[in-house]
Amino acid sequence: MRKSFFRLPIFIRDFMVMRNKGTVVAVLSGKGGTGKTLISVNLARVSGECRYLDCDVEEPNGYLFFKPENPAMEEVTVEIPEVLEAACNGCRKCVDFCRFNAMAFIKEKPYIFPEVCHSCGGCMLLCPEKALVPREKTVGRIEEGKSGEVTVVTGILNVGEASGMPVIKKLTGKYLPDQPGLTFIDCPPGSACTVMESIRKADYCILVAEPTLFGEHNLRMVYDLTGFFKKRSGVVLNKCSDGTNPSEDFCRENHIPVLGRIPFDMTLGILTSDAKIAADEKPEFADLFKDILENLKKEVSDEAALDSER
Ligand code: SF4
Ligand code: SF4
Repeated sequence: MRKSFFRLPIFIRDFMVMRNKGTVVAVLSGKGGTGKTLISVNLARVSGECRYLDCDVEEPNGYLFFKPENPAMEEVTVEIPEVLEAACNGCRKCVDFCRFNAMAFIKEKPYIFPEVCHSCGGCMLLCPEKALVPREKTVGRIEEGKSGEVTVVTGILNVGEASGMPVIKKLTGKYLPDQPGLTFIDCPPGSACTVMESIRKADYCILVAEPTLFGEHNLRMVYDLTGFFKKRSGVVLNKCSDGTNPSEDFCRENHIPVLGRIPFDMTLGILTSDAKIAADEKPEFADLFKDILENLKKEVSDEAALDSER
């Protein structure tokens, strides 16, 4: 059975991997402004029917490119504790327990800072007097709409909230399991817990890197992160020009597949700053991203074949 899957022609494996099971591709980079959104938006656009999930919930901007019409909106809520003063005996156990410093003891009673609370629920479980009860609080929203063949799903964190985790968990929980076809996740920048949550269910990671020493440092950081989560990854080198490219050297030294090279191009920069999808505007950009998509499919397909061999 395993051998026979491996021997299937590539296009059949593509069909099995990319259509029936569904494939989740996370696009990430070590810092903002590297080209994550450019690449995930354009890859989604040239993929036909697929899904684009914006998990960069503090600063989502993929929807500015896709401009989905009349998106449906769903609130994201969390539960934070509220003190029933009449029941509280002032034992202080909840304040001492909270590791997020979301509670203070003022005038012999606990006081809660809702913006800092991580909704872990521990204090409510712990309280011996059942004096802490959950209260719903809206921390953000999810918008879902269509742009051509792409389903655009955007997570948006309310201004002033401490953590984007609840919005990302809701996004990945609702939109990732058992969904057929391709899904691209536009991850938050860096390597914080929000990035880890965004890539947790990914089948493959695209790491976007700039051609500088700083870019190589950032690439190393996210490469280590994907390795920690045992995710396969490939690199798209952005803003390439003549001369040395430390990020490309890093890929060569570590045998990381390079899925594509995007040139440093003024037209591409202008289209992006005008919130236009480059693949829609110029055939040469559409071809560039189609090539990256083909390389991605081959990588995912080869990995699936290897998995079936193991
Ligand atoms: S643990 Fe319960 S009873 Fe003790 S201070 Fe906190 S709310 Fe009051
Ligand atoms: S729910 Fe968790 S984070 Fe929030 S106040 Fe209670 S212990 Fe602290």
